[in-house]
Amino acid sequence: MSVREKNRQALRVKLDEIKESGYHLSCSRSKNWVSEIFKDLADSDITFIDGIEIQVEIFKFEKDISISGLIRTAIKMSCIRCLGDFDFPLEADFHYNLFPAEERELSPEIEVSKQDLDEIYYQGDSIEIPPLIREQVLLNVPSRPLCQELCKGICSKCGSNLNQAQCQCEREEGVVSKFEALRNFPLKK
Ligand SMILES: [Zn+2]
Ligand SMILES: [Zn+2]
Repeated sequence: MSVREKNRQALRVKLDEIKESGYHLSCSRSKNWVSEIFKDLADSDITFIDGIEIQVEIFKFEKDISISGLIRTAIKMSCIRCLGDFDFPLEADFHYNLFPAEERELSPEIEVSKQDLDEIYYQGDSIEIPPLIREQVLLNVPSRPLCQELCKGICSKCGSNLNQAQCQCEREEGVVSKFEALRNFPLKK
């Protein structure tokens, strides 16, 4: 395998591969590959149910790098209302500006303002794509996942999943909170 092929496998882009017309990458990676880039995140319990499609365009302006991209995958989530597992299609487009870390060190007087927080720095002569993919996945995982917008949740009395069947219990109020549902769930079957 040539060095160039190896770099492509690892999604590492050498700066001198970025020509004036840009560097274009469109590829997909397996479920195992994308799971692997989350391995060192101890508290991440993201379960991928699919591989990932990756499209990246990189442009170079002297030493400043501009990256635009799109990722598409699917992860497994648990609904906060009905507690059921469901497949969440995760799609994100993103843009990053990267600057050489060396120059930043040379000019410490430049304060990093809040607006600059989306600017990140690279080291050496290549750009690593996987950390960007990881960040984009994390940013796009819903914090309050719902299997469907109008999920009916779980009956607080009998624990039935109301999306699947209407139970015979009398309805008090609309949606049951996760904790109420959990408290009542083991009591009856
Ligand atoms: Zn649900
Ligand atoms: Zn019920």
